[in-house]
Amino acid sequence: MKKGAIELVCINKAYGNKEAIKDISLSIAPGHYCCLLGPSGCGKTTTLKIIAGHEAPTNGDVLLDNRNVTNLPPRKRGTALMFQNYALFPHLNCVDNTAFSLKIAGVAKASRRAQAIEMLKLVNMESYADVLPDQLSGGQQQRVALARALINQPDVILLDEPLSALDPFLRGKMRVELKRIQQHLGITFVHVTHSQEEAFALSDQVVLMHDGVIEQQGTPREIFQQPKTAFVAHFIGGHNVLDGQIHQNEFHTGSIRVKGLTQALSSVPRDHWPQQFSLRFDRIKAAPQPDKGLHTQAFTVDAVEYQGAVIQIQGHYQTGPELSVYVSDKAFFAHPFQSGQEIYLGWEAHDLNPLQPPVHS
Ligand code: ADP
Ligand code: MG
Repeated sequence: MKKGAIELVCINKAYGNKEAIKDISLSIAPGHYCCLLGPSGCGKTTTLKIIAGHEAPTNGDVLLDNRNVTNLPPRKRGTALMFQNYALFPHLNCVDNTAFSLKIAGVAKASRRAQAIEMLKLVNMESYADVLPDQLSGGQQQRVALARALINQPDVILLDEPLSALDPFLRGKMRVELKRIQQHLGITFVHVTHSQEEAFALSDQVVLMHDGVIEQQGTPREIFQQPKTAFVAHFIGGHNVLDGQIHQNEFHTGSIRVKGLTQALSSVPRDHWPQQFSLRFDRIKAAPQPDKGLHTQAFTVDAVEYQGAVIQIQGHYQTGPELSVYVSDKAFFAHPFQSGQEIYLGWEAHDLNPLQPPVHS
């Protein structure tokens, strides 16, 4: 049976009168890769420290594999926390850094060296066993920090922004490594990040936090397909947020349309009328002329941004919303648009995703 099930039950954390965490409940299944995602200050690190036992919650309980560990010190929980700045000892080589906690625990030298080498092998650093940290690159130091965190065979490993100090190329490489190691060990990883791309690439479960609460959680695909609130849609990117409007003449039909647009093309019958919708940039069609399936109102292009595989068009309707649209490079260069040009857009009614009112009022 896999180990490392985490259950947070109604956790609150206040620093003075600042509530950093507001009544968070969360289950993470054993052996899952979970990312805590959100902007700076939303409570990710605090949540991680509460799981690790480096902070005590003001209220609520932490359960690990159904044991209530709320009052246990970090070393008795079966968790290991890897700090943001790696915190390697500068005067110890990679083996001694990795084996440090075994030394404290009184494990004999030969045995702890053998275990440390095993861990360094796992993170592909065995050839640097006798090297000091200042001779290593940032990515290499991080691998050693990971080996050090893994040596006590934790059921849960907690990583606070582990990739943020690396350059984009190394970050991509380390991301693949982290996933490989997690799958190899079959333990639970909880990884804090403010990068949506990182969270989507790694996670079985994404927990998107905002101002001390969980705004939405689910698989990356669930969150991208159906963002729940305008905050989520904005944060994960690639989505427009549009206001809904009930049109007088359509009241009896139960339809709602995008505010400022004349055509019923964008009407969505709903039992509960949403105040807002999200609409993916890549679900909008764009053409230089009005056509079947396109909105008859002209859309003015304000900016054209080359992004490689897609071109991002930003623009607005005279009486309606501003929108961003992705056009594939092939389609774009067949009919390039320019700033100031009037074009025509269209989308399927089912691509309008109804949003719930904000979690924060
Ligand atoms: P994140 O990791 O998402 O950036 P944190 O969990 O570090 O956010 O912080 C959440 C909130 O709690 C922030 O407003 C932060 O200023 C506050 N906070 C965190 N740690 C402390 C502390 N030791 N004392 C006072 N306020 C704190
Ligand atoms: Mg943080």
